[in-house]
Amino acid sequence: MGSIILKSLEQIELIRESALIVSRTLGILASEIKPGVTSLELDKIAETYIRDQGAEPGFLGLYDFPNTLCISPNSQIVHGIPNDIPLEEGDIISIDCGALKNGFYGDHAYTFAVGNIDPEVEKLLEVTKASLYEGVKCFKEGNRVGDLGHKIQSLCKSNGYGVVRELVGHGLGASMHEGPEVPNYGKRGTGKKFLNGMVLAIEPMINLGTHRIKQLKDGWTILTADGKVSAHFEHNVALLDGKPELLSSFKYIYSSLGIKSDEEEGLRKTPLVL
Ligand code: MG
Ligand code: MG
Repeated sequence: MGSIILKSLEQIELIRESALIVSRTLGILASEIKPGVTSLELDKIAETYIRDQGAEPGFLGLYDFPNTLCISPNSQIVHGIPNDIPLEEGDIISIDCGALKNGFYGDHAYTFAVGNIDPEVEKLLEVTKASLYEGVKCFKEGNRVGDLGHKIQSLCKSNGYGVVRELVGHGLGASMHEGPEVPNYGKRGTGKKFLNGMVLAIEPMINLGTHRIKQLKDGWTILTADGKVSAHFEHNVALLDGKPELLSSFKYIYSSLGIKSDEEEGLRKTPLVL
């Protein structure tokens, strides 16, 4: 991971623009996800939309990744490669998407339910997303990386879930992965101090069962060692005037799905125009 690079207000606005291209992409995908659809079809929709916005897919070709989206169903945690296997009722899929415009990246993720899912899995999604917001709210002046990780870890562990250790959140800017590393576990009061001008991708990856992982022979796909499902939610957040400012939004997803949510309230000074 690269060094920590503090951003100017102008640079933060450019990251916001790229982040919101990703947010709108996820919103479009939300209404396409249903049994029978393949992840490769979703990938094409995303690539077309991102290019129509005057942006480049952020993941395509990055470290030689072959597609626009990382799509990771069920026991896959992250970095799944889109394929032609139809989605099935009861699946969950994590979709992670990046966009590059004006030299700055957006990068975030959401785990979607395909039709009706098991209540136990539904709860995993809810808790993982709640842990993301715990992390976002912890990203403020006076706190450190370890405080944020501790918040996410505490909530997820108290629900009996496995917190993935090998993959972490990161700084975001002109590079997809900048410092600091942002683990989803940690000790309070430890690690790098949060500073105004930092932009983070905060991204809990939480397993229903064991925290242990394995990797497929494709060299990309990370999945749970025990075959149980895993959830992944990610936001892009800037630290401004000592407080977290959400640059990405799940509101486009909720608008597509007809969901009401106030989870982003108080986390954005710049109003979002849907
Ligand atoms: Mg991501
Ligand atoms: Mg990321």
